[in-house]
Parts: sequence; structure tokens; C-alpha cells
Amino acid sequence: MKTLGIDIGGTNIKYGVVENNIIIYNILTKSEVAKGKQFLIGKIVSIIENCKKNYNIKSIGIGIAGLVDYQRGFVFESPNLPEWKGVNLKNELKIVNLPVSIDNDANCFGLGEYLLRKDKKIKNLIGITLGTGIGGSLILDGKIYRGSNGFAGEIGHIKVEPDGRKCNCGQNGCLEAYSSGSAIEKKSKEIFNEKIEIRTLYKMALKGNRKVIEIFKEAFEKLGIVCAGIIDLLNPDIIVFGGGISNMKDFLLIPIRKSIQMNCYNKLFENVKIEVSKFGIDSAIVGAAYLNSKYNRFYN
Ligand SMILES: [Zn+2]
Repeated sequence: MKTLGIDIGGTNIKYGVVENNIIIYNILTKSEVAKGKQFLIGKIVSIIENCKKNYNIKSIGIGIAGLVDYQRGFVFESPNLPEWKGVNLKNELKIVNLPVSIDNDANCFGLGEYLLRKDKKIKNLIGITLGTGIGGSLILDGKIYRGSNGFAGEIGHIKVEPDGRKCNCGQNGCLEAYSSGSAIEKKSKEIFNEKIEIRTLYKMALKGNRKVIEIFKEAFEKLGIVCAGIIDLLNPDIIVFGGGISNMKDFLLIPIRKSIQMNCYNKLFENVKIEVSKFGIDSAIVGAAYLNSKYNRFYN
């Protein structure tokens, strides 16, 4: 059975037709958020219509950053899409006449990682997306853990400093204010007197710039403290990182592993894998495409 998975970000829309968790066709296109909410919804509709025409798709799953009510397909707010406050996307997409599910993008990422790994030994997987913000998903006993109101996994808003830096959520001291791409860029301004893009910072680190390596180290040590807490609480098989920042591989993994080891209960650290996703954007697409699958044991 073919399904369509769509990942809507602030810059790009990535989508793919998926069969048996294999992407058979995929495209990346600009979200053009500045053109407004209705324009973007129209774009999503035309993507779906096009895929319907060319492939016999049976359902659609959409991942979107922010607070999403999975049951209703309702987007409360999305940090990447400022106009999207209280949008019932599921209703807006009734026009396509196929089952549509909408979920938080980090949940799609975690679910996709779980499916693509095909490792029967993995039951509990924590997916963390590191980009402009930080998202999290908890796949526990092979299922997305949603919590009482459907918002579980907001790892980016776990506090790492009392009265610390201001976070986009309105509170102070959240992890996202220290370890996200935007937080690292802000920190670069303090050190270099100008805001340097994360990609440039990465290139500087590769050339051995000690100041940049120190910025990364400090950011990812904080992330390690939160991961250690998650490991102590949930005893997962694996924590896997995705999103743009995870491309930094060792600049991320070395400080984070060290920090987790220092802060985690020893026995739990011995058993957990800490990895960067091998699948790039595929995980989010495969996870989204699976949301509505006939074989979906996560929701049925
Ligand atoms: Zn916050």
C-alpha cells in the first residue's frame, strides 16, 4: 500500500510516496511561508493532488513543528509558521478526500527512525531533532508515547539553568536556549561580535577554531545533561539525533557522550546507544507516511 508522507518546515516542504517503509518518490520544495497561511495550505493540497494522480496513494501523514493535537489534526502553534495559531489542518485538507493524519514533526522523525532501523532488539527509542529549535519523541515499547494531552516529548523546554537565558516559549533557562541552532548562533555573537550562521561555524570548527569548538562543547554538554536525565528516567535502548545540527557528527557526539556518561547512572549508560541518524530527511517522511497506514499498530 502506498502512502504519502509530508514534512512541513519553515523553509522547505519535503515529501515522499512510501511503500513498505521505502521511499519510491520524493521531492523537496520551498515552503514560501511569507506568502501566508492559505498559500501554504493550497500548496499542500496541490502536492497531494499531484501524488494522487501519479501514484495510487491511500492515505496521507503530515509532520509539522510545534504543538499539534494528533487526534483532531489541529495545530495549536508552530514556531516555524508564525501565522499558524489554531489551524485545523485536517479540516482544511478534507478537500483531498483521503484519510489525513497530522503529527508533531519530531514524532514523525522518531517513528521513522524506529521503522527504518529494522532492529527488533530496539523497543525504546528517543528521537531528538536539533535544528533552529529542539524537538523530541519518545517511542516506548514500540509506540509513540503522547502523554495525557498529546504533548509529551518537549525536550527543548526542559530547564538546564535556573533563571537562565530567555527561551522562545516565554520561560527562562530552557535547553533550547542553549543547544539549538539559533542559540548557538546567538552565542557566536557574544564571542565574535557578529552573529555567524551555524553552517559557517561548523566550517570554522572543522578548521580547528578553538573558540567555535568551545561554543559547541558548551551547548552539547547541556544537551547531554538532559539526555542523561531521560536515560535515568526511561532506560531507552537508543537516543538518536536528527535535524541539521546532527550533521556535525563528532562535534556533537563527543561532548554529548562525555556529558551523558558524567551525569547518568552508570549501569544505564552502559546499555544505551547514542547515535546520529543515518537516514537524513527520510525518517521524517517515512514516519509521517506511516501515521495513517493500514498496518499502523501505533494508533489502531
Ligand atoms: Zn522554552
